[in-house]
Amino acid sequence: MKLVAVAQAVADGDLSRRANLTHRDEIGKLGRAFDTATVRIQGLLEQQARAAGERQAILQSIADGVLAVDTEERIVVINPAARMLLEQHAENLLGRSISTLRISDENPLLTAGLSEVVQQVREELTDEARLITEHQVSLGKRIVRIRSAPTLVGDEQTGAVIIIQDVTRAVELDQAKSEFIAIASHELRTPLASLKGFVDVFLMSGTSNLNESQRMFLDTIKRQTDNLTMLVNDLIEMARLEQGTQRVERRWVSVAAMVETVLSSLTGLVERRNVQLDVSVQEDLPAVWIDNLHLRLMLANLISNAIKYVYNGGQVSVRAYTIDDPALLPSPSFELEWQHTDETSLLVVVEDNGVGIREADQDKVFMRFFRSENPLSVEVGGTGLGLAITYSLVALHECQIGFQSKEGEGTCFWIRIPITRIDSLAEDHHEDGTVVYPSIAM
Ligand code: ADP
Repeated sequence: MKLVAVAQAVADGDLSRRANLTHRDEIGKLGRAFDTATVRIQGLLEQQARAAGERQAILQSIADGVLAVDTEERIVVINPAARMLLEQHAENLLGRSISTLRISDENPLLTAGLSEVVQQVREELTDEARLITEHQVSLGKRIVRIRSAPTLVGDEQTGAVIIIQDVTRAVELDQAKSEFIAIASHELRTPLASLKGFVDVFLMSGTSNLNESQRMFLDTIKRQTDNLTMLVNDLIEMARLEQGTQRVERRWVSVAAMVETVLSSLTGLVERRNVQLDVSVQEDLPAVWIDNLHLRLMLANLISNAIKYVYNGGQVSVRAYTIDDPALLPSPSFELEWQHTDETSLLVVVEDNGVGIREADQDKVFMRFFRSENPLSVEVGGTGLGLAITYSLVALHECQIGFQSKEGEGTCFWIRIPITRIDSLAEDHHEDGTVVYPSIAM
């Protein structure tokens, strides 16, 4: 019978076959319904194949690498860009475990980068929180940013996908920019120093023979030279931090003494802005193992900001004390994780009742050159680099920083510093077994 033969052919995959029955009886009706169903199925399959083809074409042509694995770590998608960036040229990668990605003995940098990629995929497969993670990896000559996420169908995780973006050019440009800034600011430093020196000599040697406007000009030159010197110093500091050429000289530092040193260097500013200072430092505050110049910069930036951004007669409080529970932090940490096993730490809190930071700007204050507009920003001036430098130093010393602020009410910044145990300072162990602890810097 014709219908049976056609049904058999369709079941075997030949969807072009039709029964074309014309009888008016039940069999005829069944034949026509069967033909309609076959046409529908054929249409749906063609549609599906077209969509899959389009997806494939998109995957093949996007410049970013895409690598997807199932829950058993088997590769289910790898596009040409991913092959190129991961330097995998084998034909049949699909279905293979990511652990078999080719590792080159001649290129240890690539190998190290590849194992980081594999590690990230594995973490994505086991991470209960199912978060999107992103970080930069060096893959031989290339630098890539990898962004991974779990693949989910409904609530069930079916694997993980990783997007690999070549950022080599952007990183090189950024390095070139940092180098240029470092060189230009070094070159500016010398002429500026002599300019500043001569203006100071001028002002010190008496200005009685100058008329009112000449004196005003001289004051303006002095103020602007000071601002420029501040900017150049900040630029040099920032460039050093970005290039990783910052020298780190750790030693035991007394935070109590450092707070005092910083405050005494700011007495001029405190008087000019008529600020009421309230300082409270816990007795027996332990010393911390840190670069004292860096600690000084961090505290000076936070405290001088507080003094700058309060109105005349405003209040600034500086507190330093230890905590042994992170729940006691004044606010959440800004991005940086606590990397120490010991939760006991030293907190420096700088609080003011000044202009505050408007909410829309609060996630940008640690960015280079960012200055949030407020009623005092023009009057007090600044480079927008202080907090960026502070943040980089905080990260360099594995500390944490955070703040909370309300526009028109005030701001509270804090830094959390680990209290290093003496016995963990391996770098001070001498070959003969003796341990030398550096003296406390004031
Ligand atoms: P600046 O040189 O402009 O002070 P910073 O990097 O130190 O640069 O700070 C960035 C911006 O953050 C400032 O321009 C200011 O808008 C805001 N800011 C920082 N500290 C405070 C504060 N205590 N109160 C209000 N705004 C602040």
